[in-house]
Amino acid sequence: MSKQILILPGDGIGPEIMAEAVKVLNLANDKYTLGVELSFDDLGGAAIDRYGVPLADATLARAKAADAILLGAVGGPKWDAIDPAIRPERGLLKIRSQLGLFGNLRPAILYPQLADASSLKREIVAGLDILIVRELTGGIYFGSPRESKVLENGERMAYDTLPYSESEIRRIARVGFDMARVRGKKLCSVDKANVLASSQLWRAVVIEVAKDYPDVELSHMYVDNAAMQLVRAPKQFDVMVTDNMFGDILSDEASMLTGSIGMLPSASLDANNKGMYEPCHGSAPDIAGQGIANPLATILSVSMMLRYSFNEAAAADAIELAVSNVLDQGLRTGDIHSAGTTKVGTTAMGDAVVEALRSL
Ligand code: NAD
Repeated sequence: MSKQILILPGDGIGPEIMAEAVKVLNLANDKYTLGVELSFDDLGGAAIDRYGVPLADATLARAKAADAILLGAVGGPKWDAIDPAIRPERGLLKIRSQLGLFGNLRPAILYPQLADASSLKREIVAGLDILIVRELTGGIYFGSPRESKVLENGERMAYDTLPYSESEIRRIARVGFDMARVRGKKLCSVDKANVLASSQLWRAVVIEVAKDYPDVELSHMYVDNAAMQLVRAPKQFDVMVTDNMFGDILSDEASMLTGSIGMLPSASLDANNKGMYEPCHGSAPDIAGQGIANPLATILSVSMMLRYSFNEAAAADAIELAVSNVLDQGLRTGDIHSAGTTKVGTTAMGDAVVEALRSL
């Protein structure tokens, strides 16, 4: 049975990087007989221009019917002044929540060829391979009540709510343990259980779930310490699991360990491993249309899709090896370029990955 993939290139550099990822996906499809079928639609600003809304109902229906979704990036100055209710990013939040994509996987892998592109010393980051599992549809970003108001004395005040139910914690903890089980078998759960009631429940539930995973070594860390350890000794981590806000912050911190956000893919999964895959970066309007964006994060998102949604480990491994081989050849887009390497544009980088994959 064929696997249906919905492609949403989005805005800014989205269509440029997606064109390269599609080339790689098409070759992998032929080479590994994946049986994937691609269809295309718009999300974000492109959807506002075409449909008047950032996520059309018909697009959402197609996303629900698809087996996986590959997204470029959304947003840009063209739509900045628009009614906040239909901003491009609204389309992204809506598709995530409507599809129940609660498990966000953000690997921070440092290719050895790029060790000098990191802002940290080579010996601290060389060989880095962390996976951050972030809860994506709960916690303080979605909690109610939330309010901004003016008190009787005229002072302004605002508050948010950080709710987590036992079932929300249990399902994301399971994702963390499952990932650790197929990697280095170490899971660090990050919370603020010394202060927050929601974190105390988080920790208690994670400890309960751990009983089903005796082969995984579980540790706990307060989020402030985790932020420090990520820059002090990041290689101590294998998989980290944490809530929505802590994961938002820590995964951005971890991404910078690897030098460029242009290298980092991500996956957002539902309870059945149906997922939406996208680069961690945005639509980079400052370089859009110039043909210089790094397509590797999107190409690596294809590899994550094949691995996690379709269980095609051989094809996923091959794409990652092809990327590594291209880096070995010394080819670099501007964001990862350094002395002694060859600067190439988006298309040349995509073509090089295609050739490297073909020759494996
Ligand atoms: P950004 O990630 O788009 O860009 C940050 C910097 O990184 C820029 O200098 C950009 O040129 C560079 N960069 C990003 N991706 C690159 C790539 N593949 N190759 C080379 N350089 C790259 O973040 P921003 O500038 O804060 O946001 C721009 C727009 O993207 C905004 O409208 C924002 O809302 C949107 N955004 C979308 C997503 C998403 O779609 N998931 C995520 C973040 C931001």
